[in-house]
Amino acid sequence: MEGIDWHARAAALSVDGRMWIDGERVAAADGATFAKASPIDGRHLAQVARGGSADIDRAVAGARRAFEKGSWVAQPPAARKKVLLRFAEKLLASREELALLESLDMGKPIRYSLSVDVAATARCIAWYAEAVDKIYDEIAPTGPGALALITREAMGVIGVIVPWNYPMIMAAWKLGPALAAGNSVVLKPSEKSPLTALRMAELALEAGLPEGVFNVVPGFGHEAGEALALHGDVDAIGFTGSTRVGRKMLEYAGRSNLKRVYNELGGKSANIVFADFEDLDRAAGTAAGNMFFNQGESCNAPSRLLVEESIADDFAARLTREAASYLPADPLDAQTVMGALVDAGQLQTVLGYIEAGRAEGARCLAGGAQARGDSGGFYVAPTIFDGVRNDMRIAQEEIFGPVLSIIRFRTEEEAVAIANASSYGLQAGLWTSNLGRAHRVARALRAGTVHVNQYDEDDMTVPFGGYKQSGNGRDKSLHAFDKYTELKTTWIRLG
Ligand code: NAD
Repeated sequence: MEGIDWHARAAALSVDGRMWIDGERVAAADGATFAKASPIDGRHLAQVARGGSADIDRAVAGARRAFEKGSWVAQPPAARKKVLLRFAEKLLASREELALLESLDMGKPIRYSLSVDVAATARCIAWYAEAVDKIYDEIAPTGPGALALITREAMGVIGVIVPWNYPMIMAAWKLGPALAAGNSVVLKPSEKSPLTALRMAELALEAGLPEGVFNVVPGFGHEAGEALALHGDVDAIGFTGSTRVGRKMLEYAGRSNLKRVYNELGGKSANIVFADFEDLDRAAGTAAGNMFFNQGESCNAPSRLLVEESIADDFAARLTREAASYLPADPLDAQTVMGALVDAGQLQTVLGYIEAGRAEGARCLAGGAQARGDSGGFYVAPTIFDGVRNDMRIAQEEIFGPVLSIIRFRTEEEAVAIANASSYGLQAGLWTSNLGRAHRVARALRAGTVHVNQYDEDDMTVPFGGYKQSGNGRDKSLHAFDKYTELKTTWIRLG
């Protein structure tokens, strides 16, 4: 990556913003487009097709036709594996182009678009490809008079609606299991980050995915998104996004065909540091690193840092030193670790929460202001508040920006109670050198993933998803196949 002039590449980029339906690029039925600008510096990137209900109808019809024809689902699993492995290879072969599109589109540093986003996307597709010809069905222990087969079957047409913070990875977490299982997919990327999804569809087709199996309809949530989630011929919705819109997904299903809805939603994850932990520097470095990674725009960001009172001053000082290494800079510079927020609206939201923190009496130890104001983009300095109470807005609401709240506690019971006093339950972390405490607290935390003495070390083999209002169902791991397959019992009478 050293030596690449990303600005020159960006200047030379030509982006096709038309949608992908039935294996071809098409304009919206009514010809509508929207302008996509870069949060890095405000530059115009592309006119992107603005999908509406006619486009969703057309994409769902194409997806259904492909499914009914069996051009994909009727292929043996080993054949589907080959195509998806080729798709993963093509993603890697286009890594620089995809990374550049991702950074320009939503503002993240190019080094991470390359090393994290493209790499994890390809890994995910390859992982489900590899899995699909190794999964067996079941025979129930019914007794000698019958043979009862329990099989998993592809559902049909899956609607996928994803956010802008990890556009490719979030799409891949649905596409991997949904496509490997044999379904057709209609993907609606976020209007704030539609560009990589369009390229992914193109690469999938080149890899041999039959026409109509993977469609991409860009557009707005209340237009293309709503049309997809309300569609009567969509069997399931794999949604990642805010809890507010997740509620709507359930309503849309209720108002239409009771399609399955799998929601991966917001978070306000607690990260608990006990005084007995032996390496506070590592705990502080990891806490800051995970909070400020991706500009704080991560659903599982450990945004509530619970610190035992006896070490709280010392730990806050360590965190403040760490924050200094996450100053926002040009995302197209290969050294940059903190990029731009996704748009002006997100900038205002984050600055509004910083004001709310101050107004409610929290003490700002670092940051607390917009940065790089003359860039034309949307940057906020890494921000740390101390003296936060768990009932403050900055502790209860998902900010989705680089704002860390320090909440002090005195006992283990108090720490667990504070951590669980949230409508969210996506993830949690805890740091202790006491084995009994590690197990006790991990069991008591109401979260889909509990990290012990690390945060966000990760692998495709483990499920990802939340308790409570952080959602239902799980992305990643073999469990994700449950979302995109139906379970069938075939009872055969013998003799
Ligand atoms: P969002 O809910 O605003 O939008 C997500 C997607 O839904 C977008 O594609 C959007 O266009 C679409 N949408 C919006 N309104 C819609 C409507 N009325 N009908 C149909 N579709 C609609 O979320 P966002 O701002 O793009 O993303 C940030 C959120 O995503 C955060 O809450 C974050 O925690 C969450 N997230 C969760 C996970 C997870 O795995 N749990 C991962 C990443 C992000």
